[in-house]
Amino acid sequence: MVPCYGPPRVLNLRNLDLAELVAAVAPHGVPPAVARRIFARVHRDGAAGFPPGAVRGLSHAAAASLESVCEWPELSVVERRRAADGFVKYLFRTGDAHEIEAVRIPLPDPRAARALKERRRAGQAASLEALPTAKYTVCLSSQVGCALACDFCATGRLGGIRSLKTWEILAQLRAIAAEADHPVRGAVFMGMGEPLLNYDNVVRAARILSDPCGPAIGAKAISISTAGVLPAIRRFTAEGHHYRLILSLGAPTSAERRALMPIEDRWPLPEVVAAMRDHAAARGTRVTLAYVVIGGVNATPRHAGELGTLLAGMRVKLNLIDVTDETGRYRPATPEELGAFRDALVALGVPVVRRYSGGAEIAAACGTLAARRRGEEIPLTYLRRGFADSQTS
Ligand code: SF4
Repeated sequence: MVPCYGPPRVLNLRNLDLAELVAAVAPHGVPPAVARRIFARVHRDGAAGFPPGAVRGLSHAAAASLESVCEWPELSVVERRRAADGFVKYLFRTGDAHEIEAVRIPLPDPRAARALKERRRAGQAASLEALPTAKYTVCLSSQVGCALACDFCATGRLGGIRSLKTWEILAQLRAIAAEADHPVRGAVFMGMGEPLLNYDNVVRAARILSDPCGPAIGAKAISISTAGVLPAIRRFTAEGHHYRLILSLGAPTSAERRALMPIEDRWPLPEVVAAMRDHAAARGTRVTLAYVVIGGVNATPRHAGELGTLLAGMRVKLNLIDVTDETGRYRPATPEELGAFRDALVALGVPVVRRYSGGAEIAAACGTLAARRRGEEIPLTYLRRGFADSQTS
């Protein structure tokens, strides 16, 4: 007897933005208005398949036709680990047996955060007072490993393996949101990989995440970080996206940056900063620059002076992020080093924000994602409780 395998399954709707999905389902007899409902089902609801009545207006014939060609691939969750500060790191396995990580980051209600800041200014609150979680943002991976080999980064030590497809990027957020006790309201492309070396899939994923028919995450709550892929920065600016673009500086001069970030040899710092300057002008807003602060390496008043020169006249916000290096080669700045560095920057008129890089003890902090199984998986019920709950139990 000849086995019957049915028609090949070739259409992955999870890979498609709204315009692509409308075009892809049209040959199956699906009008655009119904295609938009399919998009919402796939990307907002995270549903698969077309059981009767699942999509209003979808005919039985069109549903059967789509069922015969659609595939619904998934990432599998290998491990979830939770840090004391409420950060949760997920380890996923892809269909071709690679592993990637994503991090769920708890955020308080902005009004409560502002009130805490006021109380701290008035000396009425301790600086480490925890606020209840109101929502989450998710730090997403865009590649398996990373070819850019920044010296302070665990992902860079894996080497570049491959870029993730759009659906693999979205699947990270969907899996995390499905288990979360608060809504996911933001996404940051700061996980494994250089997002702008996977430009089409990352920008398509951002477009799907921000689509009002999809997860509807505000474009301004989506950040894409780059180590400085110059042609892609130029392209991003020319295309006029409203997602936040963040450049990781590493050092204020090419000579010092080269030792930390080999990408400097390909696209030198002055040219990359010029591209960000143009991006700020085109967007009519400040751009965000990230600076991994490494004690004894890149955080002295002299470095602050050179940063002031590099960024002169540019509308920027400089995010200072403590280095987290499990190898022990690099250490965070001491409070004294950081204070002197920060004071020198402020004196030069560079707006500075110190960014908290959480989940250090579960290797979820910036620069520590290495897709390694660490054991001690947490129970799902515990995962669903907010940070404040966990503090009071
Ligand atoms: S810091 Fe980013 S760009 Fe650099 S090696 Fe790590 S993942 Fe790649």
